[in-house]
Amino acid sequence: MIHIKNLHKHFGASHVLRGIDCDIQPQEVVCVIGPSGSGKSTFLRCMNALESVSEGEVEVNGFPVHDKKTDLNKLRESVGMVFQRFNLFPHMTVLDNLLMAPMALRGMSRAEAVTYAEGLLAKVGLSDKRDAWPSSLSGGQQQRVAIARALAMQPSLMLFDEPTSALDPELVGDVLEVMKNLATEGMTMVIVTHEMGFAREVADRVIFIDQGIIQEQGTPEQIFSAPQNPRTASFLSKVL
Ligand code: ADP
Ligand code: MG
Repeated sequence: MIHIKNLHKHFGASHVLRGIDCDIQPQEVVCVIGPSGSGKSTFLRCMNALESVSEGEVEVNGFPVHDKKTDLNKLRESVGMVFQRFNLFPHMTVLDNLLMAPMALRGMSRAEAVTYAEGLLAKVGLSDKRDAWPSSLSGGQQQRVAIARALAMQPSLMLFDEPTSALDPELVGDVLEVMKNLATEGMTMVIVTHEMGFAREVADRVIFIDQGIIQEQGTPEQIFSAPQNPRTASFLSKVL
């Protein structure tokens, strides 16, 4: 589903991604960990062309993202993304947040979109917030709406960039639970996270990025219990 070969990213003089190779299979759940500033977000953002690729190949869902001729809107319609901040449309109810893209971009009728959206709200445990304004919800509830909104486009791949980092600790669990359920249903997911417990439990593969390079990757067991790279071990000793 994702094929990345020798990906480099420069921001002016700074060489942020320095040759990343990575293939991700359908239904795989990959957690990306690593120190702040190591290039995790940039790596994720290159997958749906929120950042341009400086060098190398990035193929996502059959779209050659590095190719200037690729229809990036079509690519992004098939890739859901959830950020640290919730980014809900503040002037729309929860339900309307979920209706907009499917109606505008998928050509769904309102009735069809409402039925689908209600199913998604049930899935994230927020059926009772259907007509609420985003500002009346807790951060965790807003983030669950953001996940539902991304799912409303029926993406074949979901990217998460530290989806729980901005939340109060007691709100993190509900969001992780929604993501865990998605993983169980077979959604392909790439998740940048500092939640090591979650990564250990849910990931099929953990990728450790430092200094713009994949320093080490493996099963959660391999990475958390027997890291081979001293950088991985040192990072884990600080966060575990
Ligand atoms: P992480 O998500 O691992 O914390 P990022 O991918 O956000 O790291 O950033 C990696 C490096 O790239 C950092 O040094 C950051 O300052 C730099 N960077 C990220 N985005 C930009 C940008 N738009 N312009 C310039 N530098 C950037
Ligand atoms: Mg980041």
